[in-house]
Amino acid sequence: MRVQVDREKCLGSGLCLLKAPTVFDQDDEGLVLLLEAQPGTSAEEAVRNAEKSCPAEAITVSPPAAN
Ligand code: SF4
Repeated sequence: MRVQVDREKCLGSGLCLLKAPTVFDQDDEGLVLLLEAQPGTSAEEAVRNAEKSCPAEAITVSPPAAN
């Protein structure tokens, strides 16, 4: 799983941190920071919940990049 965030869209709601705190954080201005761009499968459900919860649709989850 690959995660991307669009900080230009982020509204600073903080919901992604609540759903998946090992993958998302917020900077001093409240904008999302991506801690882990390729989280393991154990984080998948939390990351999908974060993606769905984001009011700005700033989180994109896609399949892992092919090697
Ligand atoms: S849930 Fe969306 S809008 Fe809220 S902090 Fe995370 S990326 Fe930003």
